[in-house]
Amino acid sequence: MLGANHLVLKQNELVERLREYDPNLDADMVNRAYVFAVRCHSTQVRDSGDPYFLHPIEVAGILTELKLDTHSIVTALLHDTVEDTFTTFEEIESLFGTEISQLVCGVTKLTKLELQSEATKQAENFRKLVLAMSSDIRVLLVKLADRLHNMRTLYHVSSQSKRQRIAHETLEIYTPLAERLGIHTIKDELEDLAFYHLHPDVYESITNRLKFAHLASADAIALIISDIEHIASSYGLKCSITGRSKTPYSIWRKMQQKNITLEQLSDIMAFRVIVDTVEDCYKGLGIIHSHYMVVPGRFKDYISTPKANNYQSLHTGILGPLNQKIELQIRTQEMHDICENGVAAHWQYKQGNNCHDGKQYAWLRGLLEILENAPNPTEFLEHTKLEMFQDQVFCFTPKGELTNLPNGATVVDFAYSIHSEVGNRTIGAKINGRQMPLRTILKNGDMIEIMTSKTQTPSPTWERFVITGKAKACIRRFIRNQQRTQYSDLGKTSLQKACHKYNITFNDKKLQTYLSKFNHNTIEDLYAAVGEGILSAKEVIQTSHMDHEDTRKDNHDNTFKLEKRKSQKPKSNDPSQFIDGVITGMSVSFAGCCHPLPGDKIVGIVQTGKGISIHRQECQSITSYEDLDRILDLNWSDVEHIISKYTGRIKLTFMNKPGALALVTNIISKQNADINNIKITNRSFDFWDVIVDIEISNLEQLNVLIGVLRSQSLILNADRI
Ligand code: MN
Repeated sequence: MLGANHLVLKQNELVERLREYDPNLDADMVNRAYVFAVRCHSTQVRDSGDPYFLHPIEVAGILTELKLDTHSIVTALLHDTVEDTFTTFEEIESLFGTEISQLVCGVTKLTKLELQSEATKQAENFRKLVLAMSSDIRVLLVKLADRLHNMRTLYHVSSQSKRQRIAHETLEIYTPLAERLGIHTIKDELEDLAFYHLHPDVYESITNRLKFAHLASADAIALIISDIEHIASSYGLKCSITGRSKTPYSIWRKMQQKNITLEQLSDIMAFRVIVDTVEDCYKGLGIIHSHYMVVPGRFKDYISTPKANNYQSLHTGILGPLNQKIELQIRTQEMHDICENGVAAHWQYKQGNNCHDGKQYAWLRGLLEILENAPNPTEFLEHTKLEMFQDQVFCFTPKGELTNLPNGATVVDFAYSIHSEVGNRTIGAKINGRQMPLRTILKNGDMIEIMTSKTQTPSPTWERFVITGKAKACIRRFIRNQQRTQYSDLGKTSLQKACHKYNITFNDKKLQTYLSKFNHNTIEDLYAAVGEGILSAKEVIQTSHMDHEDTRKDNHDNTFKLEKRKSQKPKSNDPSQFIDGVITGMSVSFAGCCHPLPGDKIVGIVQTGKGISIHRQECQSITSYEDLDRILDLNWSDVEHIISKYTGRIKLTFMNKPGALALVTNIISKQNADINNIKITNRSFDFWDVIVDIEISNLEQLNVLIGVLRSQSLILNADRI
């Protein structure tokens, strides 16, 4: 069962585990930390009713599986003592030394932030997390193990909303970090545990069906292994092969991403072939490709072009001996260790040193640069999520250095990835020697040369096509500064105008002395606030007493009145309010052909006299518009949507069995969606095709719903149309 407890790791067992791999083991320190942790937490209990000290011991146990050093294990044992007991850092320092107390301090900071994680705090949280990680990677590894053990025991937490919040946070923050650090064992387990708590019904449905499929093919795995082994040995190739079925979460993700049902999912089984040398990897690939049918489009060479986290392996898809599509990964033992344990595996070779491997942390430096430019945490989280979840594209600089960027990155993203200044001054680019537009999307293997000019500044239109957080943050910062100057000028002018209108002497020296009343530091800030409409000119004039007798030129008009400022954003159901790139008040409608939802990439088509109609970017009807100037790049804005319901249209094929339709409607209402309309398009004796219009709030909700529908055995197909 998920999260089931096993026996406590005893003190001597922990030391023995460390002795197996750590040549610098300090057994005395581990023993003292173990006893200290048990004593500190002796009066506390976990949600499960177990003694609290089992938790730090389990966390230490998890880290021995990653073969981490004595200091990491001791930190794991002590990680909750300062936060949860009367222990102080001074005490830890005097008992265990400075290094340990600093590591424990790092973990404690993360824990404190975790405790206050409301939606906006989460980003802040994450920001500190990353910063802490940059000072010592072991802090993050202990935190990941801590989170893993908490997820394993999450079912003891009685509040469902708390469980879901923690599971959600795990998927948003910790699994991407585990993935980037290359620790696959922890990533897979965290994902499955989070999935289980977020969508228990779907999790159960997928595991049940996997169990069924797996039972039916338990022999199949063994047979496929022996078949491949037999062929390899006939060529004298030494290898060891393991086979497994994929994790429920990875299957769920694929079902959502690729619009397919569990039956259509090509490879539920994956096989791993471990060979001795890199040469053998390619030799093995050749042998396998010449004996089995190859599934086109599945071959990937991550040996010559490793992933961003240094993952190396050959991937291919073949039609196995039972005519089943299977996934094959071919790699050496060393590549395998790095894949499973990532940074932790590197760690083993670098014990005692600070693990600042430049290549490994290229992505981290990118994050740190965003931190410097991002004014608010939410913006940071938004950008970071983007960078974390997209696949990579690899491009060369003219010097032949390989740069990795998220898939979909443009020339401008590339320029900013070199340096903010290069980005800001980009005027043109050559891709593979040819002059290309700045918005060109980069392809793997492109060689890019950026041309700059000292007089160039970023164009606001760049923001519409760049996708990396760094480029967006730099462009936004530039525009924000520019806007601020404009607002400031505007604010000053409108103050002067207001003064003039009412015969008051505009007195900026007097204004200067009232700055603190307005909570601004400089007079430019105050002007900008007026220009932006945050403060009204009337308020400023009255608060700073510019209208008092001593400065009034003329005081016969005591009925001092200024026009009331019109509220800038009328509260209405006007859709132009929540789409960026549309002028407020413009007539906006959602196209009936593609039913765009918040979360979809959207464009607007300007129709003379009719306003703007919003379509999904992939909508077929757009291709008929030849006049590109009439197509606007638009985005959903971040503001809370006033219209909370949109129409999503899905097509379903299900078996004509009693209860099938009821099952469908049941699932839809259980997912908090309403059915607007059902149309049966095909009714045969075995299957029904229906089109269902559903009231839904955003794309994510629709995708989850489709995923749940797909996980049902009575439903053959569920697709958005
Ligand atoms: Mn803990």
